[in-house]
Amino acid sequence: MSTATIHGATLEEWERRLPVISDLVGLRETEWFSPHTAPTAEAIADVGLTRADIDDAAARLRRFASYFREVFPETGATQGILESPLVGAPKLHAALAERAGRELPGSLWLKLDSELPISGSIKARGGIYEVLQHAERLAIEAGMLSLDDDYARIAGPEFTEFFSRHAIAVGSTGNLGLSIGIISARLGFRVTVHMSADARAWKKDLLRSHGVTVVEYDSDFSEAVRQGRELADADPDCYFVDDENSTSLFLGYAVAARRLTGQLRAFDVAVDEEHPLFVHLPCGVGGGPGGVAFGLRTEFGDHVHPIFAEPTHSPSMLLGVATGLHDGVAVNDFGIDNVTAADGLAVGRPSGFVGKAMQRLIDGYVTVDDDTLYRLLALLDATEGLRAEPSAMAGVVGPERVAAYSEYLERRGITAERFARATHIAWVTGGSMVPDDEMEGYVARGRELLG
Ligand SMILES: *Cc1c(COP(=O)(O)O)cnc(C)c1O
Repeated sequence: MSTATIHGATLEEWERRLPVISDLVGLRETEWFSPHTAPTAEAIADVGLTRADIDDAAARLRRFASYFREVFPETGATQGILESPLVGAPKLHAALAERAGRELPGSLWLKLDSELPISGSIKARGGIYEVLQHAERLAIEAGMLSLDDDYARIAGPEFTEFFSRHAIAVGSTGNLGLSIGIISARLGFRVTVHMSADARAWKKDLLRSHGVTVVEYDSDFSEAVRQGRELADADPDCYFVDDENSTSLFLGYAVAARRLTGQLRAFDVAVDEEHPLFVHLPCGVGGGPGGVAFGLRTEFGDHVHPIFAEPTHSPSMLLGVATGLHDGVAVNDFGIDNVTAADGLAVGRPSGFVGKAMQRLIDGYVTVDDDTLYRLLALLDATEGLRAEPSAMAGVVGPERVAAYSEYLERRGITAERFARATHIAWVTGGSMVPDDEMEGYVARGRELLG
């Protein structure tokens, strides 16, 4: 028995206090349904942001729509609004039920952020939004832009020249760097992306082809962020996008929920007491899933049930919330290595803001093994003909985990009748930019594991 302590208690003491810790340190797939959830009306104040802040973010994205139409013609089909499809996945649903050997009540939908234009991941929401907000602020302060201008003007050379006097920096496991790098470079900013060791080579190559400076680190995400922040702080003209603490990123993600409401309405999907909505969100540092969940709570109140999904090797948000230590704890403190094929989720220390703000508004947390991610990726390909990156598959385990946890469903007042009418949305957070050969490798790996 070890007597070494981790944040003031031995591992045995932690395990006694929080039995889920045993599964986490054993790298076993597990789930933790939070005892801290509270009614939305009460807990939403924890966030310190309101519906009006989401309105403001949505309005800013509308102002920039003409710029996107002008500069990124692939956004023309949505009139310059960056949005992804919501699609039904009945064949995947049937295959998951067959593999689970049980019925999975309700219906399964996929939110395909993998198809988002410009950077092919959920980061096209928050990352791009924060850069737009910064660019707008600079241009307005310089007297070059006003809120009722046609923002297509921003594509002009006087703006590119103006922005080139300013710098932007970010630390990233890959996808945030892609989003921030591509939009910043296009606007004209000097942009540096500090990439953690797990970032894929093609993401670095793609960024360099856009004129982005890529700095590579041998260390993990938190370290890349720390060093990037330090370098940016030394340059007064440099704006650092802080993935660990940014409310701007968070609001960019939150807008997704507003738009999802319209998509659900279009498909005549009810969300109310009799028709619960479960949204399964892959979680890295927490800003993406946290922002989306915040938006969902403002839309659907207590009728939506956000569930976060993390790799077994990087369960940072689960650990932060369950221990109450939040960004004071890293998975490595518990001997968990933070090494995973889910590069977008390879985060050892959670956001310092999201866990505290959202802990009473998140229903549960599940962990997923890398092999499961590959299997699901191959299953998605085989059943629905859709492809995504490993990180993006984490939420797909959600419907089965929730169905298996009757104690949680009872506690939340979800009877068997209500659960049978549930809507599950797995947020498929990235993948369309993955090069074909790399994607073939993922699918082949998954097929092999499926046997
Ligand atoms: C970044 C990312 C996430 C999670 O977002 P966080 O804000 O880091 O929690 C999920 N999926 C993919 C593909 C990502 O790139």
